[in-house]
Amino acid sequence: MPDTRKALVTGGAGFIGSHLVNRLVADGHPVVVIDNLSTGQLRRVNPQAAFYHTDLNDAGVERIIQREQPELVFHLAAQSSVRQSTIDPAADANSNIVGTVRLISACADQGAEKFIFSSTGGAMYGNLTPDAIPCAEDAPAYPLSPYGLSKQVGELYLELFQRNYGLDYTVLRYANVYGPGQSPHGEAGVIAIFAGLMLDAKRPTIYGDGSQERDFVYVSDVVDANLAAVERGDGGTYNIGTGEPVSIRRIYELLQGIIGFDDDPTLQPRRAGDVASVALDSTRAAAELHWQPSVTLETGLQLTVDHLRRATVQRTTRVRL
Ligand code: NAD
Repeated sequence: MPDTRKALVTGGAGFIGSHLVNRLVADGHPVVVIDNLSTGQLRRVNPQAAFYHTDLNDAGVERIIQREQPELVFHLAAQSSVRQSTIDPAADANSNIVGTVRLISACADQGAEKFIFSSTGGAMYGNLTPDAIPCAEDAPAYPLSPYGLSKQVGELYLELFQRNYGLDYTVLRYANVYGPGQSPHGEAGVIAIFAGLMLDAKRPTIYGDGSQERDFVYVSDVVDANLAAVERGDGGTYNIGTGEPVSIRRIYELLQGIIGFDDDPTLQPRRAGDVASVALDSTRAAAELHWQPSVTLETGLQLTVDHLRRATVQRTTRVRL
């Protein structure tokens, strides 16, 4: 029997959200999307989903939840840029804290069955010493940006609402998510930026010497983690990553090989606030959510480049027509 519980996906016009909506629709769920289209795009929203063009802070959100009565809630809508959060911390807090609290409160009022929150691992644990990598969930939260702090606050509100109102939730702390349709502006934009420029025969810039390391997890694996959390992990917090630190220089070289791009990068000084190295230990997700990443970095990069190539061909064909 297919699971036909109604799912709400906030941020369903964004990078990860649109992949999740497609999967939920394919699995037979009725799906409702709320998105203010600040970074998301309407053309990405699956036509079988009901779409509400609304900000999380709009009073209309409570009315939508009352009308639609979603049973499963996947909360992905967020101001998702670390850099932007440092430029305008108040706007970040408004979207990521106040908007999240409004949504949690409305969902608790309606008796939603499960609330799955897209949090961050990459921006949660601060600067990690080499012996602390990969980092597990019990490492202290030490966000270095308003964005990381806003996600930590969202997690704490969920704990509170479970204690006080019995709202079941799971927190997923993602590493750097990448894949087709990724925005070059979010937390893990480096792959989208490098690949886009190399395909245009332009030289990407590396800030610092490229030794900074990140944990890159492919978007379909993140969708799998969200679905795994529907039935498991009540009240739990889970890192969703590969555990493998990969340097920015290595990403550059892998993309060079896939795309056939020969030039060296332009080098610029390291940017303030860039953490040196992050990788997430997802042992707990493997044990309790039965989740493990299944797409290798090489395969994920190839799929991402293939998608970008197809998108470029489609754009060029449209211009010629
Ligand atoms: P994205 O920017 O592509 O998607 C976010 C979506 O939310 C967009 O469609 C945007 O229009 C919408 N949105 C933003 N503020 C809103 C508001 N106030 N009201 C309604 N809609 C709003 O980002 P993404 O990469 O798909 O990230 C999805 C979620 O995962 C975010 O919560 C992000 O913080 C989290 N996350 C992403 C990564 C990553 O590497 N991409 C890593 C860790 C956590």
